[in-house]
Order: sequence, then C-alpha cells, then structure tokens
Amino acid sequence: MKRKLLFGVLLLIVAAAGLTVLFQKQIGERLFAQGAASRIDNAGLDLGDGLHLILCGTGSPLPNPDRAGPCNVVVADDQAFVVDIGEGGARNLNLIGFDIASLDGLLLTHFHSDHIDGMGPLALFYWTQGSATAPLPLIGPQGVERVADGFNAAYALDHGYRVAHHGTDIVPETGGGLRAMPFAIGEQPVVVLERGGLRITAFRVDHDPVRPSVGYRFDYKGRSIVISGDAARSPMLDRAAKGADILVHDALQPGLVGAMTSALEADGQANTAKITRDILDYHASPEDAARSAQVAGVGRLVLSHLVPPIPNAFFYPAFIGDAATYFEGEITVGEDGMVFSLMPDTSAIKLGKRL
Ligand SMILES: [Zn+2]
Ligand SMILES: [Zn+2]
Repeated sequence: MKRKLLFGVLLLIVAAAGLTVLFQKQIGERLFAQGAASRIDNAGLDLGDGLHLILCGTGSPLPNPDRAGPCNVVVADDQAFVVDIGEGGARNLNLIGFDIASLDGLLLTHFHSDHIDGMGPLALFYWTQGSATAPLPLIGPQGVERVADGFNAAYALDHGYRVAHHGTDIVPETGGGLRAMPFAIGEQPVVVLERGGLRITAFRVDHDPVRPSVGYRFDYKGRSIVISGDAARSPMLDRAAKGADILVHDALQPGLVGAMTSALEADGQANTAKITRDILDYHASPEDAARSAQVAGVGRLVLSHLVPPIPNAFFYPAFIGDAATYFEGEITVGEDGMVFSLMPDTSAIKLGKRL
C-alpha cells in the first residue's frame, strides 16, 4: 500500500515537471507580467520626513558583481541629492525604487573616473522619467564645468536621437545632460547649499595628488550625515565630521590589498601590481576611518568604496581588521541597497535593505 502511494506521488511529480517544461513559455510569460505589474506598483520609495542615506554603490574601480561604483543618495524630506555616481549606481537606484526624476542635483567629491562613470544613465533617467525641462544640476569643486562640458559633448548625438524618437513632450529639448555649478574650496569648509532646513557643507580632504577633492556634510533637523569621498586620514575630515550621526568613509584594507599585489606580481602583471601599491597612500584603512570616527565622536561608521572587492560577508572581519579597537560606536560594512533613516531630533538610526 505504502509503495503504491509512493509510486503515485512520484508519478505526479514527474507529470508536473513534464507539464512545466511543456508550458514553460506560457508560464514564463504569465509570471513575468505579474512580476512586472507588482514591481512597478511597489516601486515608490516613501521615506518620510527626516534625513536618509541610501547606499546605491559601495564598490570601487575593481570589479565586484555585488557592488556598484561609488554612489550615495541623501534625502531630506522632499530634497534629494546623489553624491558621486559610479558605474551601476543609477541601475541600483531604479531597482531600489528611488524616483530619479525627483533629484535636486548630483554632487561630485572629485573627478576620478570611478566617481563619474555612471553619469550617463543617471542624467538620462532624470531627463526621461520626469520629462525634465532643464539639465541635471552638477555641483562640485572647480573643474566640474569641464566634466559637464565633456559629458554633454559626448552625449549630444544621443540627445538628438531621443528627441527625434520620443518627441519633446516626453523628452523636452531643453532637458538632458548636466549643468555645472562649481564652487571654490580652500582650507575652510564652504556651505554649498542651504534650503528648506537642509545645509550641505563641502570640506577639503586629502586625496593627493587629486585636487580639488572634497567630502560633504548634510545637516537637517538636528541630524547629520558626512560622506568622506576618497580620503586618507586628515584633521580636516576629523573636524568636518564632528558629532555627525553617520560617517560614510572610504576604506582600503592594506593587508588584503597586499595579498592582491603579491598575486599580481607572481602572475607577471607588473602594471596592475604597481597601481595596487600606489593606491595605499590616498585611501583610509578601516582602522584610519575608525580613528577619525572616534576623534569626531560620530554615532556610526559606515565603510564604503571597499578596496579590494570582498566576495561575501564572511570576509567582513578580515576587511575590518582592528578598526573596532579604535572606535567605540558601531561599524557597518556598507552594502548596496542599505537605507539608513534618521528621524528628526532623536539619536536613533533605522537600517533597512532594499536590494
Ligand atoms: Zn579617487
Ligand atoms: Zn574612488
């Protein structure tokens, strides 16, 4: 009796598998349509009032399938700014359900390729998703106008194709591309924007020989987020991050990079090995970032721009190294899709994951 039952169940499984294969095309079409409907329906990311940080890219120039290039979004109530836009950043923002058309601007910390190589998709989505009648504001230290000019020249033909194909109601001719809004930066921090209770301050960081190179501090309703950009440890950053709720800091683990350098040398890849040695002096180690976080008295340290790429969370302790011995607060290894929410006039930090 039992054997008969078992045989019957097996027969049913085989029949179901056979039917699935037979109707795979139809089932796939139906499932895709249902998935697309619910995906588009649930796309909105409603964060509410407060100061929010979305990590849309926590990687570096070194390829990592799980991490886009450097990309952060700071949202303060109805204002939103992207800070740096590496490759894959705009793709992540779409997957997260962030409304790119609602952006108020793109801030650049410096003009290294990995911080600007996602500008194309971001500017395109800003224009097409919201039928923007003006280019996306591009705020950065002096030199940003050259980046905007070059970008606009490179995308001029694309601009024409889009207008011809979709029409000016969808893609107004006056929109598309980027409009540079440069600011001068010296030794002292400068306020680059103050509006609706949000203050954005730029401060110089040490990323020599890359000059200018800045970080940004966002203050809103008693909460604050600081983004280091690419920065070796310096008193300028320690001062600018004073009392911040969150410090997002670039992080390069010299021990792990050293292992990469050795492997590259052993493989005869001298050029890349030289680069992996050169980059040691203009990024902070996790330990350096932890020292800054401690001196500045920040609430939480979020490591981003991870060098080298690490395959998964098992390697986080090896990446963090001894950082925890230098900082009393919490250290988070940043991941694409993390959303930190700071509600006004509290000290709480809520962390969610959207990818
Ligand atoms: Zn850099
Ligand atoms: Zn970088």
